[in-house]
Amino acid sequence: MRYETDVVVIGAGGGGMAAALSAYKSGADVILIEREEEAGGVLNQCIHNGFGLHYYKKDLTGPEFKETLQEELEKTNVRVLKGTFVLDVSRDKRITFVNSDGIHEIKTKALVMTTGARERHFNSLGIPGDRVSGIFTAGVAQKYINLQNLKPANSALIVGSGDIGLIMARRLHLEGIEVKGVVEILPYPGGLERNVQQCLRDYDIPLYLSHSVTRVEGKNRLSKVYVSQLDGTGNIIPNSEKVFEVDALITSVGLIPSVKPVEFVKTGPGFITSNTNQTTEDWIFAAGNCTVIFDLVDYVAREGEKAGKYAALYAKDEYISQEKITIKKGKNINIIHPSYIDPNQATKLYIRVSRVFQKAEITIEPLGIKIIEEEARPSEMVEIQIKPFKDNLCKEIEVSAHELG
Ligand SMILES: Cc1cc2nc3c(=O)[nH]c(=O)nc-3n(C[C@H](O)[C@H](O)[C@H](O)COP(=O)(O)OP(=O)(O)OC[C@H]3O[C@@H](n4cnc5c(N)ncnc54)[C@H](O)[C@@H]3O)c2cc1C
Repeated sequence: MRYETDVVVIGAGGGGMAAALSAYKSGADVILIEREEEAGGVLNQCIHNGFGLHYYKKDLTGPEFKETLQEELEKTNVRVLKGTFVLDVSRDKRITFVNSDGIHEIKTKALVMTTGARERHFNSLGIPGDRVSGIFTAGVAQKYINLQNLKPANSALIVGSGDIGLIMARRLHLEGIEVKGVVEILPYPGGLERNVQQCLRDYDIPLYLSHSVTRVEGKNRLSKVYVSQLDGTGNIIPNSEKVFEVDALITSVGLIPSVKPVEFVKTGPGFITSNTNQTTEDWIFAAGNCTVIFDLVDYVAREGEKAGKYAALYAKDEYISQEKITIKKGKNINIIHPSYIDPNQATKLYIRVSRVFQKAEITIEPLGIKIIEEEARPSEMVEIQIKPFKDNLCKEIEVSAHELG
């Protein structure tokens, strides 16, 4: 079967659902494609609260956030194809997908990629020891517990103190699994301060900062994990080894944006976009964790909304690509998103600083923008609003951070 539409959205997580809704509200005919049988993506397995505080001004669980978007989608004519996997996106704007009805093709005018991210696996850490069962990524452990009602372990150690690792520490504890600690290679936690408090300190779960797993041991099933302390240069401190007797090691060591199946746009590792979510290919827009890993689904949904709007405008020939200004990472900036600015449009800039600041001054030059941020840390994205400006002002913008006082 052949389809034709204005906008195809690939991936029906928070980003994709918001993109489809917004493209529809901007007057486009929209097809939203999801490989799972359910829309919602990561939201489905996050049964804790803390979602929607910015986007809906409500404290929702992941499934509640998804339901709110879904209810809105059901009032529209957006065609949602579930259980449908996109195999290929070609340069001539054809999307090939497969589902239980076979292989089909859609001819589209614009595309929004909202394919999310995948988890980095234990094997990529290069930790020596036995290859045993009992080593799970945090997402897999979360799926077992929250969606399949399984108890994957009796005792666990968690590697990585990003938000997912912290939330999983609390989840395992509440399921009666003894959590012996969270091990973090950096000297500061990787997740939001609110999560360190609510997921670890409130339950007396120890956090081992500047520590690293050095070896895993077991016969068939994991039985011991060896952990050592690191000095300021990242080297192991002799005789600092601790041994944890656990039958599970839960890894939460980063997410990698999923950019497949689009092969021909610039990525690095996620899709590189402008403030209008346009990639280096004019008709392809991208939003959410497939561009950069966001702290909150609220930001993802907001970005999805913007991508959907500009994709619809592009499909109707009402948004034409402009010459873009490059945004450069200056001193003490680790992540910056987006990478380019169309100066005629407003910009939400998301940045991560590269170290902890008591009081950071963030500057955007030559626009003369200065922001003061108390306790800026790499784990918490800073959002900065930039108004449209005259494009003859500059060819490049640089964002930097330094300590004040
Ligand atoms: C454990 C955990 C805890 C979190 N806690 C919070 C929190 O407390 N508060 C908060 O705001 N945020 C939280 N987040 C973050 C938030 O959930 C995510 O940032 C957000 O949901 C990501 O949305 P997304 O649309 O970018 O990606 P996803 O939700 O990953 O959606 C991507 C979708 O694309 C589909 N897809 C991919 N490739 C294809 C293809 N080829 N064909 C068809 N479909 C495809 C996938 O199946 C998936 O449904 C948490 C995340 C995790 C993992």
